[in-house]
Amino acid sequence: MKTRLPKIYIDTLGCSKNTVDSEAFAAQARANDFIIVDHVEQADTLLINTCGFIDAAKQESIDHILSGVDLKEQGKLDRLMVMGCLSDRYASELKADIPEVDAYFGSSHTSIPEVLNALGGDFKKELLGERSLSTPRHFAYLKISEGCDNPCSFCAIPLMRGGHKSTPMEQLIKEAEMLRAKGVRELIVIGQDTTYYGLDLYGKRCLDELLLRLSDVGFDWIRLLYAYPAKFPSHILPVIRERENICSYIDMPLQHGSTEVLKSMRRGVTRNRLEDLISEIRSEVPGIRLRTTMIVGYPNETREHFEDLVDFIETVKFDRLGCFMYSQEDATTAFPLGDPVPVKEKQRRVRELMAAQEKISLEKNTTLVGTKQRVLIDRIENGTAWGRTIWDAPEVDNEVVLDSAVAGFNLAELKTGSFYTAEITDAEAFDLFGTVLALDE
Ligand code: SF4
Repeated sequence: MKTRLPKIYIDTLGCSKNTVDSEAFAAQARANDFIIVDHVEQADTLLINTCGFIDAAKQESIDHILSGVDLKEQGKLDRLMVMGCLSDRYASELKADIPEVDAYFGSSHTSIPEVLNALGGDFKKELLGERSLSTPRHFAYLKISEGCDNPCSFCAIPLMRGGHKSTPMEQLIKEAEMLRAKGVRELIVIGQDTTYYGLDLYGKRCLDELLLRLSDVGFDWIRLLYAYPAKFPSHILPVIRERENICSYIDMPLQHGSTEVLKSMRRGVTRNRLEDLISEIRSEVPGIRLRTTMIVGYPNETREHFEDLVDFIETVKFDRLGCFMYSQEDATTAFPLGDPVPVKEKQRRVRELMAAQEKISLEKNTTLVGTKQRVLIDRIENGTAWGRTIWDAPEVDNEVVLDSAVAGFNLAELKTGSFYTAEITDAEAFDLFGTVLALDE
């Protein structure tokens, strides 16, 4: 009797690295004639790609697994499978606590062949780098490495994704060319620490070479995320300055601004070093926009340390900033420090830090009112179009809310994934407003 090919819904949680892994799985699954469906209602197999980074993310993953168990108990699913960082880190606990799951697998960057085998398929080596995109067709992530060698005290990622492993440059260029051929216009370069690229494979940090070669592939925008401040490879700065299609933008999570807290976090930098690095980046690439991420409520963070952090962001004035509450993660080197800062106090510090950033963001966004900007349209819904400037990454940064009437563009003419020149007419702290003036392809 011919076995029925699985109809799989992939539920991807966590970071963009998980997104890339799920897309790689989808391409392999399709090559095995498995069917990838867009909604869980259409599926007989649910594959959840989990996140195990911090408490909130772990809870979200568990909630999704339990919803999957409900669907299975209602007879709406034949198979429930779980992979990713949470099941990599807590396999035995999950097996004991939620035995209704048919199979648990490790981190998604290593377990794709196993999952395929469990579904009666096999891994096709010749498809390495092939992806079935889940992002809007005009942008895609390029994961240039996996794992991390940095010793950050609060971070469990190396426990789940292993040590740093750069992907060979030729393979990345092939993958980028494939993405460009699929119509991708914005390539977003990711890894746990993108600035470490090549050191393990080629004995030197060669992100600059990689960016130059990616720039030749023909994308409109190439965006660099997850830079690491310690031993920052300044030789990438001229490449960013000179190549027009490399966004004048760097995402560099700094996690804190107080030297004492940075020391305990084992970040390998001091406040002064960070300020020097940021002014070097800004003088080497005039007009560059910097995004960062901070953690508040770290075990040894006193009120004074926190005020030092606020003073740091008010001094440096980041263009984009996100903030997380410290999450005590077992097996990390910070774990023995406990979690002494009460949740209420952590929440208050998040509010205070984001309130300080809100003022800075509004000040910076207001300077763009009256200017003309090239905007990439991400989506058009309910009579409004949303886009981004070259200084905004998808899903985390500002959006430009566009109306089109003024320039005689009727909204139906606007295309998602196309570039337009827009006049910025108004600004809020975390969004811009504008009018479409012309197509800018
Ligand atoms: S750089 Fe630090 S925070 Fe980032 S993944 Fe590596 S260890 Fe974790």
